[in-house]
Amino acid sequence: MNKIDRQLAATLRQPAELVESGLAPASALGDLEKVAARYAIAVTPDIAALIEDPDDPIARQFIPNVAELIEQPGENADPIGDDAHSPVPGIVHRYPDRVLFKLVHVCAVYCRFCFRREMVGPGKATALSDAAYGRALDYIRAHREIWEVILTGGDPLMLSPRRLAEIIADLAAIDHVKIVRLHTRVPVADPARISPELVAALRVEGATTWVAVHANHPRELTGDARAACARLVDAGIPLVSQSVLLRGVNDDAETLAALMRTFVECRIKPYYLHHGDLAPGTAHLRTTIEAGQALMRSLRGRVSGLCQPDYVLDIPGGHGKAPIGPNYLSHANSPGSELDQQIRYCIIDYCGDVHFYPPKA
Ligand code: SF4
Repeated sequence: MNKIDRQLAATLRQPAELVESGLAPASALGDLEKVAARYAIAVTPDIAALIEDPDDPIARQFIPNVAELIEQPGENADPIGDDAHSPVPGIVHRYPDRVLFKLVHVCAVYCRFCFRREMVGPGKATALSDAAYGRALDYIRAHREIWEVILTGGDPLMLSPRRLAEIIADLAAIDHVKIVRLHTRVPVADPARISPELVAALRVEGATTWVAVHANHPRELTGDARAACARLVDAGIPLVSQSVLLRGVNDDAETLAALMRTFVECRIKPYYLHHGDLAPGTAHLRTTIEAGQALMRSLRGRVSGLCQPDYVLDIPGGHGKAPIGPNYLSHANSPGSELDQQIRYCIIDYCGDVHFYPPKA
């Protein structure tokens, strides 16, 4: 058994395994089993090693909680409206110039806040058949406006290097596809999987590969995770980050600033900080939008521009992402000026102080 197979075999998937490993108390077994009957569980050895107590920021992301069985009004099995924009199985075409290509329904770990939690995991949707894969490629070929294909799922880096190389070559062979982007949790959840073979599989003539790394707490960027990211960047693959704002995980200014700085230290450009989607049973992990905006203001005052992600919300119903960060610009009369009656720009600096800027004459 190679190292990757050993990691897969050692991944904890059953409630009893979580209890036996000390990641959950025995008294929680009944509740864990109720959650497991509805949602997938997977905790890799790398992630298990980071969990120090049942309520720490890593445990909150991966160890099931009975609160997941409580659904709030507005929560929805398809919170970002993938289905409404799926012209053929596997493809989500929401914006003109890009599509999501959902190849697999499995992940290295199952995040308790996942916005596709009703679709990922064993027993949920099935992987694309060869025929469905062909129809998805035909769709991309027929739509010349598609410049970027985003491989997501599930986690596309769960595919073998050989299969990934075939898929990326198929996409790069389409003239108008210039960018192939992969969204993944693997560099932090199972860094050994980012092998030289896998890295080589991601590079292709004819298209540029980008990788978006999902991590939510600075402790996830362990030495092994950093080395995995470095293997990708050293091969010329640019990395961006994706994080979800999560209560009790990263909803404090210090942790969020440390997370963004850690990304930049790993040559990962902070890209998105997602407001929690309305996935069923995830209210206990969501913050308010006001809290998110206050955190973004605090980030602006604490860390460099390189470390600033966009705070975004996927509008329920499939209407796409909208930036929901704080606004620093408004209009006002400038007091004491000879232009008292003239509307001027009013700008808030990183300390919260207000300044005026004249309109264009
Ligand atoms: S890795 Fe991504 S798709 Fe998989 S469970 Fe986590 S958030 Fe969902």
